[in-house]
This record gives sequence, structure tokens and C-alpha cells, in this order.
Amino acid sequence: MSDVSITYSKELLINGELIAGEGNLEKIVNPSTAEDLVLIHEASGQQIDAGVKSAQLAGKMWSKTTPKERANYLIKIANLIDKHADYLARLEALNCGKPLHFVIRDEIPAAADVFRFFAGAVRCRPSPTANEYLAANTSMIRMAPIGVVAAITPWNYPLMMAAWKLAPALAAGNTVVFKPSEQAPLTTLAFAKLLNEVLPPGVVNVLFGRGESVGSNMIKHSGVRMVTLTGDISTGQKVLQAAYRTVKRTHLELGGKAPVIVLNDADLNKVIKSVTKYGYYNAGQDCTAACHIYAEKGIYERLVADLADSVAKLKFNQEEDKQNDLGPLISERQRNSVASFVERANELPHSEILVGGVVPNTSGFFYQPTLIAGVRMDDEIVQREVFGPVVSVTCCENEEQAVQWANQSEYGLASSVWSGSIKRAMRIASQLEFGCTWINNHFLLPSEMPHGGLKRSGYGNDLSMYSLENYSMMRHIMISHD
Ligand code: NAD
Repeated sequence: MSDVSITYSKELLINGELIAGEGNLEKIVNPSTAEDLVLIHEASGQQIDAGVKSAQLAGKMWSKTTPKERANYLIKIANLIDKHADYLARLEALNCGKPLHFVIRDEIPAAADVFRFFAGAVRCRPSPTANEYLAANTSMIRMAPIGVVAAITPWNYPLMMAAWKLAPALAAGNTVVFKPSEQAPLTTLAFAKLLNEVLPPGVVNVLFGRGESVGSNMIKHSGVRMVTLTGDISTGQKVLQAAYRTVKRTHLELGGKAPVIVLNDADLNKVIKSVTKYGYYNAGQDCTAACHIYAEKGIYERLVADLADSVAKLKFNQEEDKQNDLGPLISERQRNSVASFVERANELPHSEILVGGVVPNTSGFFYQPTLIAGVRMDDEIVQREVFGPVVSVTCCENEEQAVQWANQSEYGLASSVWSGSIKRAMRIASQLEFGCTWINNHFLLPSEMPHGGLKRSGYGNDLSMYSLENYSMMRHIMISHD
């Protein structure tokens, strides 16, 4: 580690103080070059405890603020994101290797919008009518904060994931102990400094460190009342194990493997354009990526040929940022994992790699955008999340088979249906077991709509009014007026 010249010194935010971690040193790497960026100390056990206690203390005050007061804080946070958009975008691009133009266009405005959405949403929450459901007794519902929320996020969209967790949790009156991915923490740590300019001490505490050390101690802490995780299924299982002891509330956004069902009457150009964009966006490190196609047999051959032409044109590792369609994977480990998936798929006698399938000769963790055709419904590449720039295509007989195969997945996060007949598309959408189904589109998530999974993709929602419910305790108050 001696080759790294910069050690960050005051990266944790605990009780309104920016302080240095007292745990192990962790190295942050630039995935585009494989060069070391900075060293950061993890939070120690004592600092995790201090973060939780500070959130507990701040909760006494924060839980009593009015929705309007909290909304005003959220608007200030959104304004700070706008003000520092360029800096935050550059940091995100550096730490994740993303093309900067996409971060500026998509992620930073989306993060600010989430804070603005929840600022409005918390002031107009729907609730059932207060009434005498039993004679001479008036019942009403209160939505109370839960308490201290431990929020843990992955590497793929660090700042946006921070917004998805923080905005609804704070809006609902909770306080937070937050841990970003140890691989991509830089924007969240910079954001902590901005949050500290506007929020009262202890309302948000930001810790840094690995899952096994810092994350696991956060979720076990008895002062934490809820854990919200976006991450891998195996991490979700660990959260559940830790939560059962103290019966904590949990919200799990886990993996995904989004099927793209293309019927014979689909607008093929639109399909090709969308899959080329959203199968490979963020180098496929997206739980909703358009990563597996079930194409009806009448369109399969044309789709595969046109998609191969289109994917072959995708660019990466170009000097001029705007020319890049995708960046590298987050780490060498992730790149190797993607390469292994493709190697195993390539060994199948029926599969055909039409584009890519190789690790390019670059210093960063790039993987060539890859298209694999001919794979079967029960192949590993079809069933398991690759989380890389790899799209596979399977031919199916008809829409019934496509629905049946799509629903056999253990994941249930996102899906799309492509057809010229809205009747057919709606029929399929109504049968699919996924948290979201796009029709003649893929990938788009407005702040107003819920994002959440079924089956092993988890439960609960990010975004939308419904997310406020995740972060609230519903209580019944009854007043006797006998
Ligand atoms: P990961 O589960 O390894 O890590 C996610 C976070 O959990 C990190 O901050 C990590 O430090 C922490 N963590 C790891 N082990 C922990 C433990 N034992 N206790 C507490 N915290 C722990 O996931 P990742 O590799 O960073 O991200 C990729 C995964 O995230 C993919 O599976 C992807 O599908 C999923 N993901 C899901 C969504 C969604 O909305 N459903 C969105 C993005 C990513």
C-alpha cells in the first residue's frame, strides 16, 4: 500500500463531527486504470457504536420535527447536490470508472430529484379516514418513525443509492447510520460533508468500511431498529440472520436478472436500440439491466443478427469521455467473475458468442461488451446474475413459453415485454412475477414509482410514496368518547 500517496483523514461523520476512522486501512482503486486512488481508515467498533448512539440521540429531536421542517432540509440537500454536481460527478466517474457524461446527465440529477420528491411526498401522505369504526370510539392512523436505520449500499450507483435510502428514511422522521460500498465510497463521503452543512448533528452518520467488519457490526447493533440493504442475495441473508435476534425491520433490494420478452410483432429497431443501451449501461452492473432476451422464434434470427451489429459498435476506454458507451467493471474480481460466466457459457455445445467474450488488453478492469446467442432457459448464464456487459438470447416457441420461462427465475425485480399489440403485451405483463414490467421500454425509473423485488430479489420498495411506508411504523390510535 506504500505506493498510495493520499490517505484520507477525516472521512467519517459521527454526531456532526468529521473524524478519521480508527480501524484498518482500505485501498480505493480507480477501475479505469487499476491504479490506487486513496487509502481510508475503516470505522472501529467503538466508532460504529458512537454512530448508532449519536443517531439515537438525534432521533429524539428529529422525530418531533414537522413534515414541513424535514421537507425544507431535504430541499436544501437537493440544492447542495445541484451546486456541487460537477464535483460529485467527477468523483463518481473516477471511483467507479463510469463515463462522466452519463453521470452528469443521469445520476446526479436523479439523486437531487429523489430528495425533492420525498420533500413533497412527506407533506401529503395518504391515510385512511379517521372514523367511528366502533361506536363512540374514534380511530385514526399514525405513521411514526421507526428509529435508527442502518443503510448499506453497493458500488454500482453510489450517490444515487445514498439518495434512495436517505431521502425517504429522513423524510419519515428516522435518523440514519449509513455505510457505502468499501469499493466506491468517495461520493458518499464527500456527500457526508455537504449533509453536515445543513443537517443537525447525528441525524445522518456516515461510516466507512467493509461489509464483514463495519457492515456486520452495524446490522447487529441493538440500537438499530431497521436495516435497509441494496446488495447481493447472500448479504441479504446475513442481514436477516442478524435481524432475527432483535426482530429488526428489514428492507432488502437484492439482485436481479431481467428478462426481455420480444414477440414476433415487436418493433425490432426499438428493441435493438433499447437493449444496446440498457443491457450494457453502467457496464451491465445494474440489477435491472436488459440482460437476457426471450425472443419468439419468428423474430429470433433477425434480432440476434441486428443486435450483434449494434453491440459490436459499443465503445469503451476511449480517451474522449463522450465517445464511451460504457466503462470498466468495478474491480478485477468482478471482471474475472464476468469472464468466468462467459467462459462457462462458451463451453456449452449450443451457445454461440457473437460479440466480445474477451478481456481486452487494457490496464483497467474492462470487459468487452458481449452477446451470447443460442443459450437455453436452464443454462447458468440465463439463470444467474452476471452483473457485467453481457446479454444472452434464448429462442422460445410462443408467449406462453416466454412467460413460463421468465417466471421460473429465482429473481423477480424487473422485466420488459416488446410487442406491437398492447393487448398481448398487457396479457403477458399481468402474468409476470416481477416488481416492474416495462412495455416497449426498459430501465426507466421515475422517483414517483416504486422500485422493489419479489422472490429472492428481496422485498420493500425504494422510491415512491410506498417507500415512506417502509420507513414508518403504522399505529392505531383509538379515542373513546363514551
Ligand atoms: P454486496 O452485497 O457485496 O455489498 C453491498 C453492501 O453490503 C456493501 O456496502 C457491502 O460492504 C455490504 N456488506 C457486505 N457483506 C456484509 C455483511 N456481512 N454485513 C453487512 N453488510 C455487508 O453487493 P455488491 O457486490 O456491492 O453489489 C452488487 C449486488 O447488489 C448485486 O447482486 C446487485 O444485483 C445488487 N443490487 C441490487 C439493486 C436493487 O435495487 N435490487 C440495486 C443495485 C445492486
